[in-house]
Amino acid sequence: MRTDDPPPSDDRAALDLSPGENADLCEGCVRCCSYLAIAIDSPRASWEYDQWIWALHHEKVSIYVERPEAWFIHFETRCAQLDAHGRCSIHGRHPVLCREYDPRACERRYPLTDMRAWFHDAEALEAWLARERPAHWAKLLAWRKDTVPTPAPAASPSWIPVEALAFGAGNPRAGRHRVKPARRRSDSPPGAADSAAGRISAEPLLPVHEEL
Ligand code: SF4
Ligand code: SF4
Repeated sequence: MRTDDPPPSDDRAALDLSPGENADLCEGCVRCCSYLAIAIDSPRASWEYDQWIWALHHEKVSIYVERPEAWFIHFETRCAQLDAHGRCSIHGRHPVLCREYDPRACERRYPLTDMRAWFHDAEALEAWLARERPAHWAKLLAWRKDTVPTPAPAASPSWIPVEALAFGAGNPRAGRHRVKPARRRSDSPPGAADSAAGRISAEPLLPVHEEL
């Protein structure tokens, strides 16, 4: 590109970014290649809560809830196609799901928004249920017929209450979240072009592995 070229239009879709642009934007980060998250039905029945409590007894599994009420199960698991240098070893034939995730507006650069709670273990979900949905909690306990008493919820819950989360005030990407299907959203705001470098200017970075 000549330096007197006009700045590139940056209303491009993520699919139109070049491999070099993707590499620049993702330099030093492998976050979105290190987990997967899947939407699940919002639980209501006792057996449904029981099912997700069971899931949360497993290592590296968590569940989070977004506003108004969208539930997701999250697995910390590294993609086997990530090479030793943190690059995608099948780039060019990697899934469209990956290609459509826009590194100009990804989780590296913007805080999570729209979160209600994040449960990192079964006890966290049980504590949330006891506090937020006492009728459902009572039904679950009656249905489960525990033979040992359930410990009282911790004074400081390990689930993340909505008030404690950073919301998108002033954040033009408010509403974005981590789940890969959400990466297909067509309202992804493009980043601004850097005319001098001919590359995309990146928004301020958040810590790559920042967790709520
Ligand atoms: S989280 Fe963003 S910067 Fe990190 S690898 Fe994924 S798209 Fe690239
Ligand atoms: S296929 Fe490539 S881009 Fe997609 S998650 Fe795996 S390493 Fe990342």
